[in-house]
Parts: sequence; structure tokens; C-alpha cells
Amino acid sequence: MQRFLGTVSLFFFFFYGICIPNVYSRTLPKVAIKKIRVYSLPTGIKIKLNTTGKFFYKSFILSSRKSEKYIVVDIWPAYLPQVRKTISVRHPQVKKIKISQFNRKTVRVAIQLTKKLAYNTKKWKNNLTLFIHSPKPLKRKKKTCILGVKVSYPPPQGLKIIINTQGKPHFKDFILPGFKKLSPRLVIDLWPAYLPKGFMKKANIKHPFVSQLRVAQFNKQTVRIVLSLKISRIPYKINFQGNRLILNAFSATASEGSSAILPSILGLKIKKVVIDPGHGGRDPGAIGYKGLKEKDITLKLAYLLKKRLETDLGCKVILTRYRDKFVSLERRAAIANRHKADLFISLHCNACPSHRLHGIETYFVGLTDDQYALAVAARENASLNKGRGELNDVLLDLLAKAKIKESAYLAAEIQKSLIQYLRGKRYNPVRDLGVKQAPFYVLIGTDMPAVLIETGFIDHLREGRRFCRERYLQRLAEGIVRGIENYIKVVKYSPTMERGIGG
Ligand SMILES: [Zn+2]
Repeated sequence: MQRFLGTVSLFFFFFYGICIPNVYSRTLPKVAIKKIRVYSLPTGIKIKLNTTGKFFYKSFILSSRKSEKYIVVDIWPAYLPQVRKTISVRHPQVKKIKISQFNRKTVRVAIQLTKKLAYNTKKWKNNLTLFIHSPKPLKRKKKTCILGVKVSYPPPQGLKIIINTQGKPHFKDFILPGFKKLSPRLVIDLWPAYLPKGFMKKANIKHPFVSQLRVAQFNKQTVRIVLSLKISRIPYKINFQGNRLILNAFSATASEGSSAILPSILGLKIKKVVIDPGHGGRDPGAIGYKGLKEKDITLKLAYLLKKRLETDLGCKVILTRYRDKFVSLERRAAIANRHKADLFISLHCNACPSHRLHGIETYFVGLTDDQYALAVAARENASLNKGRGELNDVLLDLLAKAKIKESAYLAAEIQKSLIQYLRGKRYNPVRDLGVKQAPFYVLIGTDMPAVLIETGFIDHLREGRRFCRERYLQRLAEGIVRGIENYIKVVKYSPTMERGIGG
């Protein structure tokens, strides 16, 4: 009940104070402003006015033309004896307090602010208290320093980016689609965070699907890391491990347990590859260094390549022969066609009467008047039971159907990758004999892009020795896989080529 009365009387007083003062103020004697005290508190500024008697007051916020803000308190009937007229205040939002005789019966207290602040007033007997609230401090987390960004390439074709941070900022990751000349981007924002001075802001990424990494202070609070992509999306996972934000892309874990990483990303139908280990059985192929037989090298290499294609590219791989057995050239092509393979890779070793030639060359099918290429084709076609004239008719007939353009690209990518890869592995010298065209029967018969790789000269001393080492054959297989991988990429970005695949 008492509380209720209190509310009523307060309300009455408020009402009385605001609306009726002028009627009564004339009759009341003026009070003197005795004292004004200012207290600076962590939560705001407290101003206490002490007068000699009863008074009325009102308060409001006033904005000047210069966009200055004031809290104004008018007190009446009152007069101003000797008190300080200006009080400066040490407060970020309160500049100074001015006290003046506003008119004959009103004393005005004006508090200059740098911005609008909340306040409240309280009157108690002859005292008036004004409390100006400081703005609530924003809960700002301390900014985290980005210490460094490290890029690595876990095999077979992963991309790992480690962002070292001092603390643990928030992060979000998203893909921005490509627009006009701008490539698609993977964006990682970290906040609150900052880059220290002299931070390396750009790095080229040596990955088939990611070209560049950029790091920048995006705004006051946010550090942005951008990966430029060559494809519209990539499989990746990102999370904090201690003070390291780790991005894993193109890894087995990033694509949720699927080993078919590449074809699934690209949505391409490079699912089945037929590898053709040249010769076999009664046909040993070329004989070389220390009696080394071409048929044995090609079979060993075929198995290594099969394993690589399966694990690295997730392809299904079929060999035209799995052991030392004679298989006709027609049959080899027929195997590839029957399985509806997407690519056909024929593996061979070269030889020449002088035993002096060395190097690697890749062929795709075609007519040529290059005597060297014709000689190589003649040797590889030797097991064919067809006369020259008959062969030419077949050639012309089949050439019209051959996927020559795709085969040319495939040959170019394999040749380039193989040479680069072997040189990168410090085999020296590795002679690049280039991409050539010749009428290989085994290639003509196939319905899919097809190439024949002359992986080296078996009768050359150095290359023959290399063929004896499993490690070298392994490197050859890895180089070929890289070429196929790059070919898939070329096809993906050439709309006219895409139709040629898998159909
Ligand atoms: Zn051969």
C-alpha cells in the first residue's frame, strides 16, 4: 500500500512539476544554487546540485546546429550566486558543464556531450541529482594475430593449408562463384584478427585446380584468405587443431571416403582406362640391354600404371593382357571397345639399329610421311597378319572415325607431364622426342581417345639400365598418370572436347 502511495505521489509530483510551475513559481521565493559537484564514475557522470529551498525543474536533450548535443536542466525559481560557471570534465563523452542565469527566474545547467547519452534525474529535498550513463562498452574480443600461412601438397593430389594463429578467432568459409573474368574462390574469414606488418600476402599454388592464395586485412576486424579456383567447387574440410586452422582439400578424407576423387569432382566419364602392355608371348618386341625384352618391361609398367590410376584417379583399369601371352593387335583394340573404355594407353619400348637413340615419344594415330615415325609404326604393327595394301584401306576407313583431336590432346599432356616429371625426379638427361602421328594399327581400331607411348630405348645403354629398375618404372607410371590427369582438366574446359568423351 505504501509503495502504491509512493507511486501516486511521485506521479503527482511529476505532473505538478511539469505543468503547473509557472502559476506557482511567481509566488515562490527564488532559491540559490549553493553547490554543484561532479563525480566521474566508471558507469557515468553524476552531477549533484544543492539549493537553498524548494524548486521546480525540467530536463531535455538539445541538439545545436553544429551537431553538438546538450543535456539541459532548467531550475526555477532560482538565481545563481558566486559558483563556478564552467566545469570541465574528464570523460570521453562528456565535454563540459556550463551553469548560467538563463532568464530572470531560471538557472540553466547545460552539459555538453560528444554524443547522445542516456541520463536520469532524481530530486530529493533541496537536492537534484543528474546521472549521465556512459555508453556500454562493446564486448570486444582481443584481436588474434595471424602468424603465418603454410601450403603443402600431400600426395597424390591434395592441398593442405595451415593458418597459424596466436589465439583462436572465429572463422567462416564459403565459396564465391566465378563472375566474368573472376575465377571461383574459396574464402576463409577469420575474426577478430589482424595481419602483422610485412606479412606475405600472395602465393602461387602449384595445384591443378587451385591457382593462387591471397591473404588480406578485409576490414578492421577480419582477415580474409582467398583461394582462386580453376573449378567451381572443391572438396575440402576445415577445422581448428589447437592454434592452427587447417584446410584439407582434395584429400581422401575431404571427399568422404570416396577414392574416385577426380572423376567425381569433374563429373567426367573418365572411369575406365584400358592399358595395353605391348607385345607378349611369342612376340617379345624389341630386345635390348642385357637381353631385356620389351614385352616384360611393358607388362611390369602396365601393372604399376594400373595401380596408380586406381589409387590416384579412382579409375577402373583393364589390361589387354595380364601375363606373358600373345594377344593380336585387333584383339587389343577389341578389348578396349568391348569394355567401352574411356581411354586407351598402349605401352611400348623403342629400339634402333645403332643403339644410340634415346628419349621418350608419344604417338596418336594418323597418316604421316615421316620415315622415322613410319618405321616405328611398322615395327609395332609387325605382328599384324595383313598386307600393306590391305592395311592402308583399313587405315583410311578407320581414321575417319578415330577420335584424333582428343587423342592428340591426350598424347600432348602425357608427353609433357612425363618429361617434366622425370626431369623433376632428377633423371638426367631425359630427351623429349615429342608428340608424333603414325598409323599404329592398335590405335586405329579403338573407339576412344588412344595413345601409344614409346617409353624409352630398350637398346640404349642408359635407358636400358633405367628399365631394369623398378623405381624408374614407378616414376614412368606416375608421370603418365599426371598426363592423364592434366588431359582430364583440358577436356573439362573445352566444351567441344567434352562431347567426345565417354560417348
Ligand atoms: Zn613395341
